[in-house]
Amino acid sequence: MKDYVASGVWAVLSATLCLWIVDVSASIQLIRAVSIGGMVQATLRDYAGMFIAESQVAFGLILVAWLLGPLSAVVSRSRDWQKHAVALASAMVAAMTMVIVAITSWHLPIRNPREALTVGAVAGALLLVTIHIVLRKRDDSRWAFSGITRYLLFPALIVGHGNLALAKAIRGRWIAAWSDAATLLMLFVIIYAIGRLRSRSRRDMIGWLPMGAVVLMTFVSIVRFSNPGPAGAVVRGTTQPDRPNIVLIVLDTVRADHLQHYGYKRNTMPALENWADDALVFMRAVTPAGWTAPAHASMFSGLTVSQHGVHYEGSREQYYTNAFDGVLWLPEALRSEGYYCLAVSANPFSMEFGVTGWDDVHLSNRHEFYDGTIAGLTDHFSPLLNRVNEALRWRTPYLDAERIVDIITKTVPDGDAPVFLFVNMLDAHAPYNPPGESLDQLNLSPRHLYNRYRSHREITRMLDTLPDGAIDDVGALYDGELRWLDTHLERLLEWIDDRWGDDSIVIVTSDHGEELGEEGRVGHEYGLPQRLLHVPLLVRGPTTPAGEIRDIVSTRRIFDFLYLTGAGKRPGFDVFLPEDEYGLVSERYPTQHSILKSLGSDYGRPWISLFHGNHKVVGPSETSSAVFDISVSGFDQEVEVSADAQAESLQFWIEDYWDEFRDQRVQGDTTTISGELLKKLKSLGYVQ
Ligand SMILES: [Zn+2]
Repeated sequence: MKDYVASGVWAVLSATLCLWIVDVSASIQLIRAVSIGGMVQATLRDYAGMFIAESQVAFGLILVAWLLGPLSAVVSRSRDWQKHAVALASAMVAAMTMVIVAITSWHLPIRNPREALTVGAVAGALLLVTIHIVLRKRDDSRWAFSGITRYLLFPALIVGHGNLALAKAIRGRWIAAWSDAATLLMLFVIIYAIGRLRSRSRRDMIGWLPMGAVVLMTFVSIVRFSNPGPAGAVVRGTTQPDRPNIVLIVLDTVRADHLQHYGYKRNTMPALENWADDALVFMRAVTPAGWTAPAHASMFSGLTVSQHGVHYEGSREQYYTNAFDGVLWLPEALRSEGYYCLAVSANPFSMEFGVTGWDDVHLSNRHEFYDGTIAGLTDHFSPLLNRVNEALRWRTPYLDAERIVDIITKTVPDGDAPVFLFVNMLDAHAPYNPPGESLDQLNLSPRHLYNRYRSHREITRMLDTLPDGAIDDVGALYDGELRWLDTHLERLLEWIDDRWGDDSIVIVTSDHGEELGEEGRVGHEYGLPQRLLHVPLLVRGPTTPAGEIRDIVSTRRIFDFLYLTGAGKRPGFDVFLPEDEYGLVSERYPTQHSILKSLGSDYGRPWISLFHGNHKVVGPSETSSAVFDISVSGFDQEVEVSADAQAESLQFWIEDYWDEFRDQRVQGDTTTISGELLKKLKSLGYVQ
């Protein structure tokens, strides 16, 4: 019995280690942590949390194997129940690894060869350390290399890396694919070499080599890839007064009406409120799109969704379309003005549609990384384990606001070149899982239904079945995320002031809002309600005096404002005011999510909305059409009215717009939009 339990414990530990290594080697996070020295501590916390979650998965698997192993031995008239148990466990671990890595490998946020090579190297090094540990500790037992390692670890890693190599090769990421293929090859060599060894002392000697390699790798990564900020004296990023440093901070998924400045009951972001005293606050800013990719494409190009072409594709292979050729992107434009362009983003959708011109990119993939891990499974199969993870304060390992700011303070370079820094902080996005201290600061104690509230789609689907008051919990958890966001936004804003002073240009905005249970929906996937379109927009710089603007403006004008700023033209806030015919259009072209079926076909149709005067008109009429008076109960409420003459002319405008762009959109035409671009450049004074 003692042997039974002891070998079970050992098997759980081994299986956990296998699962953990697969998770870690399939993620970029550790590499980021190693290369950005300051993040190591936070990441170790996350990875410890993952280990705990994975140990639960492993425990479940080994329990099943240890119960069924003896049964299997009896059936096959064998005395060696352990052999049967290990075979069962290894089959289950390998199968799980295969499935998980297959999912993960298609979503890996590998950005460049440097990262890919580092991932491959570190994954390989981790593997060697594991083998070393297994060899040293269990050399004399049946659970040594020939047991657990051979049956659990190697199948897991071989399947995992083979899959990664294949996925990357198919995507044309050849260098990344080769690094995985090299790891695979290394695995086979190691298996062969260790199998040939007879002497324990030799195995030990070989075992120490990878240890040294890991220490060396870590050291090289930190020295080579970190870019520490200036020590001592403040170094300014620019010495040219007409080329100020520019910071664009996008607080992903933050709706304006959950900020006190915009009339909210709770002071969710006190630091931002303070900062707003010195900023120009646009009280009625709307986004050209209700979700991340098209909204960012508009901010980076100044174009509407139909003009830049980034929208839902709806197919499994391609979640959304890339931008048309010929778009002039903000970083590209600023780079030609001598700017160093740096992006630090927690949301891959904010950049992976074709925007070019970055000198350096730090990008994280929160959801896909998490959903694709073995640790993430615990959420799905057990609410109880979920509570345990929650109690351990394990937050999803992603670039949260804290780490985003850490990266920025360590990667913005010194030098004379002016800097354009783009920041995306994703904390307000589902899952709403704020740290307890943020909720305490707001005196909130919502039920922490982490499992249920992980995905906004899931919540929408389950909304009818949730207990009374659950919607209030969703709102409170969301507010808690805003409070957490604010804590680190404050650090960032202070850092900008210390580093660059008052004459830098800082914009704080969001790409879209969020539905928090209104009309039975959670998230930002449906239609174009004000909750999604009304976003905060605050600008601080020498040409924009503090105050409030009540005109309706579009966040795509950020492009115009920053473009002119970078060219030394010192634009005023009037650049934001709509002047062209597409001034205040917002669009959504939805994909066919399964959730759309339960919500009704209305959310599967194209939506175009246009603001003018007191009206918000939604069309096109070939699907459905509505007119709202946004002056009646405030900008955030929608009061439907019947169309008057002015509203009718707006409806006609939407029809024209739809006609003009529909075919191009539907056919996936990649013709350039040079005509529109030329017009734009003319209006900005770039082209005569
Ligand atoms: Zn977003």
